[in-house]
Amino acid sequence: MDTAEANISTQQETPSSKFGPTVPVGRFAPSPSGRMHLGNIYAALLAWLSVKSQNGRMLMRIEDLDPRSARSEYAAQLLRDLEWLGLTWDGEVVYQHNRLEYYEAAFDELQQLGLLYPCFCTRAELHAASAPHASDNTPRYPGTCAHLSPAELAARTQLRSPAYRLRVPQAVYSAHDAVQGQIATHLAQCCGDFLVRRSDGVFAYQLVVCVDDAAMGVTDIVRGRDLLDSVPRQLYLQELLDLPHPRYAHVPLLVAPDGRRLAKRDRDLDMAALRERFKTPQALLGWLAYITGMVDVNEPLLATDLLQGFSWDAMCKRRHDIVIDGSLLFA
Ligand code: GLU
Repeated sequence: MDTAEANISTQQETPSSKFGPTVPVGRFAPSPSGRMHLGNIYAALLAWLSVKSQNGRMLMRIEDLDPRSARSEYAAQLLRDLEWLGLTWDGEVVYQHNRLEYYEAAFDELQQLGLLYPCFCTRAELHAASAPHASDNTPRYPGTCAHLSPAELAARTQLRSPAYRLRVPQAVYSAHDAVQGQIATHLAQCCGDFLVRRSDGVFAYQLVVCVDDAAMGVTDIVRGRDLLDSVPRQLYLQELLDLPHPRYAHVPLLVAPDGRRLAKRDRDLDMAALRERFKTPQALLGWLAYITGMVDVNEPLLATDLLQGFSWDAMCKRRHDIVIDGSLLFA
């Protein structure tokens, strides 16, 4: 790292300290793109345990901005499935599709800071031009559109509508994750300028999640380890938009024996199949707690039964992905 680079650390004990002490606030933030599967249930259970074990508030936000995948019937089903599991939330459900004006305002703020530029690269061009990013498979943006001349800009605007990227600094962003430990990313080297708005006008996940978590007063973010790489980008956006930094905990993923992450296409582990097989939330939660090492015996229990023994210290010992194979299904 050269001396001109900043080293930005955002380890904070009290995420909302600039707004005074608050009770912990967590959130569920599901994308309604299909039925929940076992991995989603595991992450939701830990998010709920984390905040409820601290007598905090749990909020619900449906991340339904992407018209290519979000369906209102999936959102309704998600809410019913979480209620069935006893993973309750406080207050009204927040839907991102109702919040476009706030994303627009944040986008304008970044625009005024002079940090956005239009990007005309296609997905194919991006993949051809850059080495894959360390682990989340987002290619590092090589800066193709970062310095277009006014003439080039005018010519490309004729051909396609642009996406918008945020310029990143030559700086390391670091944070402490309750499960994964210390993380640090050099934004320019690892990720490059990243999307805040797609070419179809849809605001990007990184931007909206920061806007929403701050607006909802979220202090504790618990989600799957697949989103760990997003943290430095989100820290940078929080800094630019003058939003508080939450605490983070990225929990292990449940993976198939070949290392593949369980996905919505693993039908035998989606909520429809699981509800059919286990019949009661107690039976399902007891088995899930058992196969993920939270309890020593497979016996029915409620989410509330796990509150007392819950601690991130215990969770830290199990930060690796958890393999779900056929034998576990019948354990
Ligand atoms: N909506 C995202 C998902 O379902 C989660 C986003 C987040 O927790 O920040 O994967």
